[in-house]
Amino acid sequence: MGFSKSIKEEALISSRRCCCICHEFVGLYTNVHHIVPIEQNGEDILENAIVLCLTCHGEVGHYNNKHPIGNKYSFSELKEHKQKWFEWCNNNPYAPLPKSPIVISPHEIPLGSKEWCPLSQIDLYNKTDTFLYQLWIKILVNSRQLDQENVNISLGNSPMDSKMEFGNKYLLDQQLLQINAVDSKNNKCIFLVIDKINPKTSYSFGITINSAKLTDYRDSLY
Ligand SMILES: [Zn+2]
Repeated sequence: MGFSKSIKEEALISSRRCCCICHEFVGLYTNVHHIVPIEQNGEDILENAIVLCLTCHGEVGHYNNKHPIGNKYSFSELKEHKQKWFEWCNNNPYAPLPKSPIVISPHEIPLGSKEWCPLSQIDLYNKTDTFLYQLWIKILVNSRQLDQENVNISLGNSPMDSKMEFGNKYLLDQQLLQINAVDSKNNKCIFLVIDKINPKTSYSFGITINSAKLTDYRDSLY
């Protein structure tokens, strides 16, 4: 047999299409592998599925007991890797992946129930030793009452007095662009495009909300 389409899909979503062993994002090149092989009565169920990259899949699947080199992956070790990685993905659905060159915090800004929201801050850090160019950050506006236009973003922690407007795009700073859009799932979102970020450097963005009375405590920005 083999895993059904829905089990494969669930495994791919739960792993964010990363390898459960090395945590590398592999996108298209994911393998949904049987932890206990079918020929050893492994079942086609989610509990027996692990998402692997091509390299790890090769290592897990090809071990020659007659010519042992290194240490063989045991079923229990694979289950543990999978469980820990699925757990991380479940607890951090919007966080950049651990191998991502940038760290963003917080991952969620609750908007609360207020007439207006005081300045909130998002911090961005470049972990690498290299310059990063053309960085796109997607902010989901999870609120029915709030439109992207009501969200003001500024570099540093003082609100911007002036910004240049071009349709749905705002040039906030010489190196910061805000694009208000909806994504393919029709979610309201804002793309922040940053021209360049320096190695090992932190940046702060101030976020203020315009007017729009918020009554729903569940409203938040991701
Ligand atoms: Zn891997």
